[in-house]
Amino acid sequence: MPRPIQATIHTEALRHNLERVREAAPDARVWAVVKANAYGHGIERVFEGLRGADGFALLDLEEAQRVRALGWRGPILLLEGVFELRDLELCSRLGLWHTVHCDEQIDMLATHKTNVPHRVFLKMNSGMNRLGFTPLRYRAAWTRLNALPQVDEISLITHFSDADGARGVAEQMAVFAAVTQDLPGERSLSNSAAILRHSLPATGAHQPPDAYVASDWVRPGIVIYGSAPDFPENSAASWRLQPGMTLASKIIATQDLATGSSVGYGSNFVAEQPMRIGVVACGYADGYPRACPTGTPILVNGVRTRTLGRVSMDMLAVDLTPVAGAGFGSEVTLWGRAANGVVLGIDEVAQSAGTVGYELMCALAPRVSVLVTD
Ligand SMILES: *Cc1c(COP(=O)(O)O)cnc(C)c1O
Repeated sequence: MPRPIQATIHTEALRHNLERVREAAPDARVWAVVKANAYGHGIERVFEGLRGADGFALLDLEEAQRVRALGWRGPILLLEGVFELRDLELCSRLGLWHTVHCDEQIDMLATHKTNVPHRVFLKMNSGMNRLGFTPLRYRAAWTRLNALPQVDEISLITHFSDADGARGVAEQMAVFAAVTQDLPGERSLSNSAAILRHSLPATGAHQPPDAYVASDWVRPGIVIYGSAPDFPENSAASWRLQPGMTLASKIIATQDLATGSSVGYGSNFVAEQPMRIGVVACGYADGYPRACPTGTPILVNGVRTRTLGRVSMDMLAVDLTPVAGAGFGSEVTLWGRAANGVVLGIDEVAQSAGTVGYELMCALAPRVSVLVTD
């Protein structure tokens, strides 16, 4: 029998979360962001749940090929554009739309031979200082692109640095609007946090946004996988999102600790009274963060308890005190939904590890087998 650890992808939850995006941005078309192998879920595994999107956005050409291989004929957007000239040939062949964020990419387009002009998304660096033309240079880049026979329609795109926090999106929106106001073309601005926090008031966003973002194309990533972009201010449950992934395993041993006994490497948990613990077949080599300290929430038989001691490569320990009747073979939910329906948000586990849900999903290890369910 294989080790009992298993991830489950919940197709219906992905569909539900996509629907939540549609509610929050009813007038926009939706790019389902599936970069990083669909945030660790697996592009092929999420495809059924996300095929209701209007397009797929990603970074790797190899991933774009995989989306086409699934039979997707709709739009695919390369969020970082191309990396070298011959990537443009693949764009032509697969009909990929691509971001243009620097002069070098325009140079490549200018030398690219194609019969079919490309749809491009011209990126503005409106303040994040990662990719894109500065506001001062944006219009010159647009003019240069617009003159190329290799270019068809030009859409306008930017990315928010603080849509999840106090700073918000107003400054970047103002910069973007000022520079682009008389340029034609579709706009793409919002990531998950902007969609949820800065959407139209009519959709009942539960806090007053400081600015409403209008996008022809929104770009949700994390929300469609069921994690809150702004945890702990808001939780996935409060945004009415459902976990797209469950990571589950089983208890493979139990130990009865006497007062003063310790658990795991470094003996950094010491029992203050006699207690029963379970040893779970899940460790950092499965993608569970080693940084999770004693006290990280975890479910046993759908009952909330805590981890104990250091996470090791293949195992971790849990406190069985609150879980009467648990023992060898009991179900353990590291994050996601337990068999009894109780949910442990990935964001809570991530917070214990000092990180975000994004990182945990993306780090799911290849050795974990993955099941796709409805
Ligand atoms: C990753 C990414 C997104 C999606 O971000 P989320 O926070 O996961 O919604 C949107 N746009 C761009 C350019 C990205 O790189």
